[in-house]
Amino acid sequence: MVRMSDLGEADRLLVLLTPGRGLMRATARSARKPGSKLGGHLDLLCHVSISISTGRGLDTVSQADTLEGFRGLRDDLGRLSRGLYLAELAERFAVEEAASHGPFRLLVDTLRTLEKLPADAADSLLRWYELRMLGQHGFAPQLQRCVDCESALEQKDHVYSAARGGIVCPNCRTRGDDPLLPAPVTVIKILRFLGRATWPEAIGLKVGDDDRRMVERVLRSHLHYVLDRDVKSTGFLDEVRKRLGVAEAAPEGDPPGDGARTGPQG
Ligand SMILES: [Zn+2]
Repeated sequence: MVRMSDLGEADRLLVLLTPGRGLMRATARSARKPGSKLGGHLDLLCHVSISISTGRGLDTVSQADTLEGFRGLRDDLGRLSRGLYLAELAERFAVEEAASHGPFRLLVDTLRTLEKLPADAADSLLRWYELRMLGQHGFAPQLQRCVDCESALEQKDHVYSAARGGIVCPNCRTRGDDPLLPAPVTVIKILRFLGRATWPEAIGLKVGDDDRRMVERVLRSHLHYVLDRDVKSTGFLDEVRKRLGVAEAAPEGDPPGDGARTGPQG
């Protein structure tokens, strides 16, 4: 279940990611009534098996069984904010009535990993997940060659363009007036590594704070451009992280893809 909201007196409106039918919306009648059998199985981020009755209007949930409750995600604010972010990203990419086996598996597996992961490894897992999710939908950033002229990239610092979808070589940097983000050689290497890593490799990666912030900024900017909007739960994610004492991805008042222009260089 990727999203849940109250509906009417005691019902819930659910947004579910399903392997076979992609995104589904359904109501769970009386799920908010105390002692509701249905409501007991329906919690945010839960992996559930449900039966749906179709009729006029919205589909309704007739039966629900929890497969994995992911309680460890809801008991910890840092994990919860990250779990909600993973779910929202999966929801944004998914469409209704389209099989979604890969993204579904990816979401469940990543939530399962996140549930037991120490906070210092969680950000690498999120970046890995973003790259996977982008790749599964055909939107992976171009990191191997210049996204414009396709020339091989020298092993040095470059810039990244969300509008063009990847790393830009020095010759192509001044073409266009799209915002550019710094992409130092270490950041490019981290992105490439995460793009081909398995999740155990990804969470084992040690990254300095500056590089971590820049990697996050590049991917956030890329996602913003691909999805044509911000992922709402990043606000909650940043807020929680700030409260828990970890530095944020981007400085205050510097939203992705905006005001982050480095300008033509070199
Ligand atoms: Zn180029």
